[in-house]
Amino acid sequence: MSGDRTNLLGLARAELETFVSERLGAKPFRARQLMKWIYRRGAADFSVMSDLQREFRARLSEVAQISVPQIVTTQVSSDGTRKWMLRMDEVQGIETVYIPEPDRGTLCISSQVGCAMDCSFCATAQQGFNRNLSVAEIVGQVWLAQRELAGPHAAGPPGAGPHAAGPPLAGRPAAGSPAAGLPATETRADGRTITNIVFMGMGEPLANYRNVVPAMRIFLDDLGYDLSRRRVTLSTSGLVPQIYKLAEECNVALAVSLHAPNDELRNELVPINRKHPIGELLRACWHYLDTQNGRSITFEYVMLDGVNDKPEHARQLVRLMKGRPAKLNLIPFNIFPGTRYRRSPTAAILRFRDILNEHGIIATTRRTRGDDIDAACGQLAGRVNDRTLVRLGSKLPNARGEARVR
Ligand code: SAH
Repeated sequence: MSGDRTNLLGLARAELETFVSERLGAKPFRARQLMKWIYRRGAADFSVMSDLQREFRARLSEVAQISVPQIVTTQVSSDGTRKWMLRMDEVQGIETVYIPEPDRGTLCISSQVGCAMDCSFCATAQQGFNRNLSVAEIVGQVWLAQRELAGPHAAGPPGAGPHAAGPPLAGRPAAGSPAAGLPATETRADGRTITNIVFMGMGEPLANYRNVVPAMRIFLDDLGYDLSRRRVTLSTSGLVPQIYKLAEECNVALAVSLHAPNDELRNELVPINRKHPIGELLRACWHYLDTQNGRSITFEYVMLDGVNDKPEHARQLVRLMKGRPAKLNLIPFNIFPGTRYRRSPTAAILRFRDILNEHGIIATTRRTRGDDIDAACGQLAGRVNDRTLVRLGSKLPNARGEARVR
C-alpha cells in the first residue's frame, strides 16, 4: 500500500538519516546519497539510483516513496513565464510560477491552499482559505519545476515525462496552452535553471511556519537545493511574533508587504495591521536584520490608483524608512476579476519612486511578468474550497469599529 510508505521528499537530513538507520539498518551516508538523487538529480524512482545496491533499493521501495504533487495544467506566457496548477485533492489546486530572466530564474511558490489574510487587493484572498501545505507539497513545487524545466532527459520515473499532466480537477476543464514543443529553457552559467526561490505565491508563509521553515532548510541544504540565504526570500504580510521566531531559527531574505505608509490606510488594505501595526512590524524587521546580520529588507508596495500612490504617501514612507536598511519595491497593481482597484498610471509610479530616491531611499519598480496567463503578483487564485467562516477583515474591526465591506 503506497499510503503506508514514508514520503522521503521534504524529510530533513537528520530525519532521513534516522529513517535509513532505524527502518533499514543502513549507515547515515545512505541518506546523503538519497538526498543527492532526490534534489540534485530529480529522481522519483529508487530503481534509477545506480550507486545503491539492488537489494537496498528493493527494501527502500517497500517502505518509502518519493511522492510529488501532480500537475493539472501548464501555461506559458509570451514573456516565457510559466505557471503550473498542481492538484491538492479532487477539487483543489495551487499555483507555482517560474520567471526566467537573463541572469536568474525565479521560482515563486505557494505555502497554503488559499490565504486567510484577506488583503483587499489580492486575488488569492478572494478565494478564501482551505489548509496549509505540507513540507513535501512545498518542496515538491521546486522538485516539479526543476523536472519540467530540465526537459525530457531528466532522471525520473518512466512515463513521468516533462510534460505529463494529470487529469483535470473536478468541475474545471483543463485550461492553458499545452506545454509540448516549448523552447528549451536556458541554463545559466552556474548550471542552474532555478537560481532563486520566493514565497510569493498563494498563502501567508508565516501562518504555515511549521512546514515552511523545514522546506526552507532543504532549499539551503548543500545536499538539497544548495541555495544561498540571499536567494531564498520569504514574503510576509506582517505576522510579527513569527518574524521574531524566524530570526532565531532560519536565515533567509525577508520581504514585507507594506503597501501603506500609515496605519489608517494599512488597516484597510492589510487587515493583519489592526493586530500588528506598522511601528510594531518595523521593530520586528530591524530586529530580524540585527539578529541575522542581514543587509536589508525589501518592502513591497502595490501601486493602487488614487489610494496609496500620492506624493504625500511617498513622503510618509520617507519618514518611516530614512536611514534604515530598507529597499522599496513598487509593484504596479495587477488587475483581477471583481476588484475595485485600478493600477496607478506609470507617471504616478515614477513620481513616487523619484520622491523616495531623492531622499536616499532605494526604490525600484517591479516589472510585471506573466500577466497574460494570470501569473503576475496577486493574480494567483488556484482552486480553493473556502473553509473560513469569517473573513479576517471582519474579525478585526478597524478603529471606527467597522468591518470592511467587500
Ligand atoms: N502572503 C505573502 C506572500 C504572497 S503575495 C505576502 O503578503 O507577502 C506576494 C506579493 O504580491 C505581496 O507583496 C502581495 O501583497 C502582492 N500582491 C498581492 N496582490 C497583488 C496585486 N493584485 N497586484 C500586485 N501585487 C499584488
